[in-house]
Amino acid sequence: MKSTNKRFITCPFCSLHCDDIEVEINSNKIKVLSEPIKNCTKKIEYFNISDKSNLKPFYKNKSLNYREAIIKSRTLLDKSQDITIVNHGTDVNGVRSILNFATHHNCTVDHINSKYLFKNLGIVQRKGYMATSLTEARNRCDVFLLFGKSILKKSPRLIDKVIFPEQSLCVKPKEKKLILIGEFDKKTIDILAKNYFVRNIKIKINDIPQLMELIQSKSIGKNDNIKAISNIISESKYLVASWSSSDLDVYENADDVISSISDFILMRNKENRAACMPISGSLADATSSQTMTWLTGYPSRVKFDGSKFIHDRNICDSEFIVENNHTDIVMHISTVGLEKIKLNKKVKNIVIGHPNTTYSSKPDIFIPVGIPGIDHKSILFRTDNVVSLSLDKIRCLNLPSVKNIINDLLMVQD
Ligand code: SF4
Repeated sequence: MKSTNKRFITCPFCSLHCDDIEVEINSNKIKVLSEPIKNCTKKIEYFNISDKSNLKPFYKNKSLNYREAIIKSRTLLDKSQDITIVNHGTDVNGVRSILNFATHHNCTVDHINSKYLFKNLGIVQRKGYMATSLTEARNRCDVFLLFGKSILKKSPRLIDKVIFPEQSLCVKPKEKKLILIGEFDKKTIDILAKNYFVRNIKIKINDIPQLMELIQSKSIGKNDNIKAISNIISESKYLVASWSSSDLDVYENADDVISSISDFILMRNKENRAACMPISGSLADATSSQTMTWLTGYPSRVKFDGSKFIHDRNICDSEFIVENNHTDIVMHISTVGLEKIKLNKKVKNIVIGHPNTTYSSKPDIFIPVGIPGIDHKSILFRTDNVVSLSLDKIRCLNLPSVKNIINDLLMVQD
């Protein structure tokens, strides 16, 4: 690999996986050239190596070489009575190897964001549900309903890639309308309103179910803003409703909110086209649920019982298990996340993390891992689950992948 080069990459750092990011790599330092959006540039460049990065494994306060770290980890794992693996984001091969490891050690496997996944899945399992893809939304949607408050911070390029793309097959950007429903901040709305047709119904998230009923029944009363927006919705030919469950989950009635949006979409389909488009989390959530489903039949929260994977969304909830000391060792795996990993000091912790991983307390063992699509080739699933993207290696730090580390953990001989 050349020491300096410019190239386009597919970004691994949120579930949109934009494939138009131009970067320059100079002595393994990544500089974003295409300036997609400031937040994205900051996010991508956060993963550059600095003085604070951990490029070497450690055990307690002692630096180890890679083989020593693998042996030490295996010793801890072999002594354990119950192993829990928490996926904070890895690629398809990473999830495959986690499951393979789980079959050898009867582990519980969970994704850190699975509580959000189950919010959406609950609706799919219990009620009718219609969903669309990013491509379909980009090309056909004329009215876009965005629910919540922080969805645009979590998936910054939803606006220019999906809602108001410069090029769209059927609807010109000027003909598209965006309705923000929820507690969006004024600054975001003002910036968007400079270039696009944007309206806001500023209501508490808890009140969304009543609002959807109101619009559905058309008995809106005297609120001119809701009346105008209701008319826009009535005239839409292809309506798309989008939310991020993590945005709604802090509210007690998150299930009702998602259910009311889904019911509304089903009702719209009697006369017009409409669809849901939930946006999954940025910790390779879609990759985890897809790969887990092929291999175990369940999207998350499984335990290998000696002969097969069993699924129980309560018993295999890693947050509950870890908080209540129902395990004695936790293996945290994090290759694309910025958030601090919360560790329970009462159990043993092995963190397999990218070099800039941060944690609430020092883990027993840390093993640095490569970032998919940056340090090694990789496959990741986009939020709509209909596209899997192949990502390339762009820097040479000789960091192993999750697959390499887990395979070495299985194979190591003292
Ligand atoms: S929107 Fe997400 S995938 Fe796209 S560039 Fe920003 S962080 Fe990366």
